[in-house]
Amino acid sequence: RARLREFLRERARLSSKARGAARLVVLAGPTAVGKGTVSAYIRENYPEVVFSVSATTRKPRPGEVDGVHYYFVDDAEFDRMIEAGEFLEWATVHNMSRYGTPRAPVRDALAAGRNVLLEIDLQGARQVRANDPDALLVFLAPPTWDELVRRLIGRGTESPEEQRRRLETAKVELAAEGEFDRTVVNTTVPEAAREVVDLMSVPLRAHARE
Ligand code: 5GP
Repeated sequence: RARLREFLRERARLSSKARGAARLVVLAGPTAVGKGTVSAYIRENYPEVVFSVSATTRKPRPGEVDGVHYYFVDDAEFDRMIEAGEFLEWATVHNMSRYGTPRAPVRDALAAGRNVLLEIDLQGARQVRANDPDALLVFLAPPTWDELVRRLIGRGTESPEEQRRRLETAKVELAAEGEFDRTVVNTTVPEAAREVVDLMSVPLRAHARE
């Protein structure tokens, strides 16, 4: 029994040490700022970062893989996940589809001492802020408003009506920069990615805005 106690103590010590080193980082910013591109670059070049895979009720775009980019679920399954308390946060985005971060994989990765990145919208970022004061909120900003419009139109994946809706959302989202711990300007993707990853190694509680 003494050996078991010793084992449990040691395990707790190791996992709390690991927890202290791990950061939950939220990457948010206006729609079309390039969050997806910066995320993809980090995924490709910094394999040590764990990516949370969100559940969503929206339909897959060409090239998107279920379980990799999102878990594509229907409304009934999303309702069930809310009911069961499976989400760390969730939101209806652009007044259309629902998106949520499954809680368990995030908790497990942090407990294992790994940094976790959430690429979510502003409403989700606020929920994370409210529930976890240790989370680091990073705002990805466009170099200019015109550049943001160019990127949104240029993507060509949304209908004109959807583009208008997203631009409206983007205006509101830009105004929220002050709620974040850090701003990274997305001038070039590799630089922005590097900055986000560098911020992950800033010690806990050393990230408050001065
Ligand atoms: P898209 O449909 O272009 O993949 O994503 C639309 C928006 O939903 C983006 O702003 C993205 O950051 C956000 N989003 C993706 N997953 C989640 C999530 O799990 N929670 C929240 N709150 N927003 C998410």
